[in-house]
Order: sequence, then C-alpha cells, then structure tokens
Amino acid sequence: MAIQAKDIRNISFISHGGAGKTTLTEMFLYNSGSIEEPGNVEQGNTRSDFTPEEKEHQYSIDNSYFNFSWQDKVINLIDTPGYADFQGEVVSALRMVESSVLLIDATSGIEVNTNNVWSIAEENNLTKFIFINKMDEEEADFDQVLQDLKDNYGSNLFPLTIPAGEGKDFEGIIDVLSKKLITDENKEDVPDKFSAHLEDYRLQLIETIVELDEELMMKYLEDEEITDTELIETLEKGILEENLIPVFAGSALNNVGVKTLMDYLIDLAPGPLSESNIKGVEDEQEKDIELSEDGSLVGLVGKTMVDPYIGKLSIFRILGGSVQKGDKIYIPRINDELSISKLYTLNGSEQEETDKLASGQIGAVAKMDELETSDTLLSPELDFELEKINFPEPMLMQAATPAADSDEEKMSSALNRYSLEDPTFKVNYNKEVKELVIKGMGNIHLSVINDICQRKFDVRFETSTPSVTYKETLQKKVESEHRHKKQSGGRGQFGHVYLRVAPLPRGEGFEFEEEIFGGAIPNQYIPAVEKGVREAKEEGVLAGYPVVDLKVTVYDGDYHDVDSSEMAFKIASSKAFRKGLKRAKPVLLEPILKVKIVVPERFMGDIMGDLNSRRGKILGMEPDGNDQIINAEVPEGEMFEYTTDLKSITGGYGYFTTEFSHYDKVPGEVQQEIIERANDDD
Ligand code: GDP
Repeated sequence: MAIQAKDIRNISFISHGGAGKTTLTEMFLYNSGSIEEPGNVEQGNTRSDFTPEEKEHQYSIDNSYFNFSWQDKVINLIDTPGYADFQGEVVSALRMVESSVLLIDATSGIEVNTNNVWSIAEENNLTKFIFINKMDEEEADFDQVLQDLKDNYGSNLFPLTIPAGEGKDFEGIIDVLSKKLITDENKEDVPDKFSAHLEDYRLQLIETIVELDEELMMKYLEDEEITDTELIETLEKGILEENLIPVFAGSALNNVGVKTLMDYLIDLAPGPLSESNIKGVEDEQEKDIELSEDGSLVGLVGKTMVDPYIGKLSIFRILGGSVQKGDKIYIPRINDELSISKLYTLNGSEQEETDKLASGQIGAVAKMDELETSDTLLSPELDFELEKINFPEPMLMQAATPAADSDEEKMSSALNRYSLEDPTFKVNYNKEVKELVIKGMGNIHLSVINDICQRKFDVRFETSTPSVTYKETLQKKVESEHRHKKQSGGRGQFGHVYLRVAPLPRGEGFEFEEEIFGGAIPNQYIPAVEKGVREAKEEGVLAGYPVVDLKVTVYDGDYHDVDSSEMAFKIASSKAFRKGLKRAKPVLLEPILKVKIVVPERFMGDIMGDLNSRRGKILGMEPDGNDQIINAEVPEGEMFEYTTDLKSITGGYGYFTTEFSHYDKVPGEVQQEIIERANDDD
C-alpha cells in the first residue's frame, strides 16, 4: 500500500559536536534492521560520515539522509554536523523536518553550539525532543543537566525516561510512564532503590499532562484510573499545541534507551501534514498555500550536491502532493518545466531508486542540473515561491591563490563549482585588486573545502589576508595644464589642455564637463580629453588606487591644424590630470563596514577593547535577553578575520554581521604605511 503522510516521521538530530548524533543514527539504523552491524565513529565505518574528509576528522561535515521503517512507520532521519562552521547544513536540515532531537552529552551539558542549533530549531517552530546521551560515562549527571536545560530552554521540559544509575552503575533507563526498567534486552519492574527517584519524576509528569485536559484533571483529582493511552494522547497534543519538550536518557554507544526513544518518536512526533498551511510568495505578495496529500505537488530543494556516480543530486522535501518518475515539475525561479527521470530515497552514501515519493517524504532527483538549493518545486498548474532557506552569511574572507602545482583557472573553476553545493561558501573575483576572494564560515570550513577540492577536482589553494580595495580622492580644487608636443620627422603630435579638478561629496563618483569657448579645442577632440582623464584616474598618485569623488572640467586649450590628434589630446589630458591631482591634497579612502556584534554581556569589555584596536567607532549598544548587541563602524581591512578572532574572544558565544557602509579617509599614519607598502611592491 502506498505510504500515507500520517505514517511518516521527519526527524533531524542536532547538537554540539561530539554529543553522539552519528552514534545514535547508527543505532537507529541497526535497530530498524536497515544495517546488520552498527558502525563506530573511531573505526570510521559509520553510515553518516562516509566522505574521506569526515572519516579523517571524525566529525560530520554534510548532512546525512536516511529512510527506514520502525513500527510500520517510515522515518526520514537527517543527521547534521555539530560544528558551527557547518551550520548551513543544520539550517537546511531543519527546514526539511517537523521534529528535532537535540542531543546533550551528559558529562558536559549545554555547550556553545547547543545554543546555536536550538535557536535554529526554534526559528523553524519545530517539535523538540531532547536525548541526554552518554549516561554510561563516569561524570554523567542527569539531574544537573536537566536542571541546566530547564534554566536555559524553559520549564516546559520533562523526562519521559530517566537513567537507572549513572557512570559505571548505569544499568539501563526507566520509562517514567510504564515504570519499567529497560536494559538493552529486557523490560522489568523497577528495583526499589530507584523507586523514590522515579516517583518524583512520575508525579511531575502526570501533573504536567493532566493540566492539559480538563477531563483528565477531574479523573486525577478524584483518584480515578487514567490509562497510559490517555496520557500519551494528551501528551501528544501538549507537545504540538503547548510546546512541551520530552527529555530522554540513554547511551547511544551501548544502544540503551534508543529503542524507547524511537518508540516515543513514533507516538509523539507529528506527521508531515500536521501543519497544512504554509506561506508562499506570488508576484512579491505573501499568500497562504493550502497543502494536501492528494493535491498538487509543493516541494523544496534543501541541498544540491555532485555524486561521483549519479551526477548532480538534488535533495528535496515534499510538503504537499506527491511525485512520480516521468512527472513534469515547474520551477518558478527559472520559469521552466523539467521532467523527472530518476527518483531516489536516500540512505547515507547509498541511493535507492523509486518510482514514487509520497507527500511528506524526503528524497532526491538526479541529473536535473538546473536545480539549485532553495528552489521551489511545483505541479505545473501552480505558480508561487516558498520562502528561501535562510542560510547564514559567511564572514571569514580570504584571498585564494593556487598552491604549488595547481593552476589558477582550474582552482577558480573548482571553487565556483563547490560554491554551488554549499550556500555558506562564496567566491568573488575582486577586479580592482585582481584577487579571488573566498568567504567561509570559519577556518575549519575553508580547510575542509580545500581537502574536498583536492579530492574532487585535483586542486589545492592557499589563503592569505585579502587586499583592501582602497580608493584615492582629493581635498582641494586645482587648475592644471599640459601641452603635449612632439616633432619627430613626418607629422608631429600636438594637444594642449587646461583642466579644473575639484572634489565631489563622498559617494558621488566621477563627473566630466566641457566649458570650451570659441573652439579652443575642436569638438571632435573632447571625447579624447575625457578618455585621457578616465584612464588616468584609474591609478591615483599616492598608491595607484582608483580616484573617486571628483569633477574634472576642461575649460581651455589649444590645437594645431595638422599635428593635433585624438591621441595627442588624450596624452595631454592624462598628464594635466596627474599633475593637478598631486597638488589637490590627495588622500586615501578605505571601505568602512557597518558591523553588528551580538555577545553575552560578560564579554563586553573585551569586545570594546578589541574594536578600539581595530579603529572601530561604536554607534550604539542595546540589550537583547542575556546578550548585548553592539553596532559599530569598522574599516573593512580590520575585519577579514574577525570570525576567528571573535570566536577566540568569546569561546564561540558571539556572532556578527556586516554590511558595506561607505568610504572614509584613512588616518594619516595608516595612510603612510599603505603608501610605503604599495611603493615597495613596485
Ligand atoms: P556527533 O559528533 O554528535 O556525531 O557524535 P559522535 O557520534 O561522533 O560521538 C562522539 C564520541 O562520543 C565518539 O567517540 C563516540 O564513540 C562517543 N559516544 C557516543 N555515544 C556515546 C555513549 O553513549 N557513551 C559513550 N561513553 N560514548 C559515546
């Protein structure tokens, strides 16, 4: 029978790196029977981390997608990377699922990236579950971690399973509802030594649940029996409607508490169509989109990648309707219809061909090269776009040059190709300074990309601090003149121009004007005069940067009937311009960024001191919960590596965004250094 949406659970694991997602994924697959033996992170044979880079580093870089059955239901599971440098993958995964399971390492509790991934789950309004892992480890402390979680993420958290013992005394988990002790093999009655602990949690749980339903509350107050089914059904409603967050305990490595988690996810996680109204955009107007299982196709591409065997693979989520091999789908971004030739479900590095994907499923299409991440997929009768996936903006900027033995063109083509797979990696050629500038989420991200480029495209790159695109301008209006005359046998060259060179307000660019009276320079030569200035202003007189914000007027000149030519006037005006510029108090300009920094209050002193050393100007500060937002203006040249520096100042607890603001004068002593450096290079 065809799969129905109500039988699907789309779930993503999220956590700070090392909490156990890959191991838990392995156990889900093993328990479901989709693999015969669970792999191990240390041995590099897990199904999630299958690329050479992931095996080498022992952490996930890409999302891994799985599709398997548990209790007659289909689970689409996405295992995400845990390091902040790969946050783009988490953002994509959490747009494709209804539920997230946050893993916490019971020995370390909430860590830096726990907060980041939690916020992404909140932004997506996901149903949330928490798995406190590594209960077998010596320093594991369930009660402490639970308290921390409540303090940070709200009191609507409650355990559905608790550990029976901790560290070397860890025997299994206890199901708070059924009061059973569950070890990896068996279910048995809870031994007395755990009873008191269990009763505390059970009382809290029952009270939380009966609060949600008046009838249950009456029964509870009158001491009538309430069945587990009644409790679970009410709980399900509470999770969906009141944002209750169930917490589980276990040890992924020992497969303890994992099946119970799987069972509860089937019971409590919502199916795909629980939210059947979403927002789309049509002709720039937001509109409500009705989804239905049997209706028109609405899908979203979450990721595109190049598979060595299959070619381009586009992974997508079906939000409404279904797709079959051979179907035509409409892609509003390119205003075109494409046919689906191959459809797949995904299991780690393996893809399985299928004829149909039902509503709510996650799958992939192959060889549809036009598809991009964030594309909306529709039945041809529809026409709107879903909101794009809100990927984080990469902030670490570096100049890339080919490493020894690699060539420039091959490197730039590899980087450009890779950037199509990873929306948090950007490549731009900066014409002015002739550099290929790459932007990534952090040093680890860029170094992993280097390894991937080596493997896939056989090129490596080196990184260095990018050059700042300085400009030059002038501060005084001057008049300047040049007479170009050459007599060398045959026909000579003659052109004579008078220019007025004046500053314009910042950001106004360049203007050229002609005020010639009485034909002092014949009309036909005026374009050559302008061209001479335009070419000359591309290299200023201080350090060779383009000159901006100026107006040049040609107001007089002289010519010769035979010897004048366009070339002669061009040379004359270039020289007149450069002579004038030298006297016009030239200065260097640098790009200034508007910077918004968000950090916990306790780092404010260090952040301010650091901004000061970057010649930053603080525009304002405002509190935002426990954080402070600092708005500042900082020269771009001081910000290329701020991603790395902010991470080290705040231990990863801060983030920032930038946007170009304006060009401003470089202070005298800094200008001197730049000029010396530029002239040294010559
Ligand atoms: P991920 O980064 O969240 O995917 O975490 P991994 O699954 O890669 O696990 C990180 C490390 O913790 C690995 O060395 C695992 O073997 C180990 N680990 C995972 N789960 C457990 C557990 O339940 N108990 C113990 N003791 N170690 C675990």
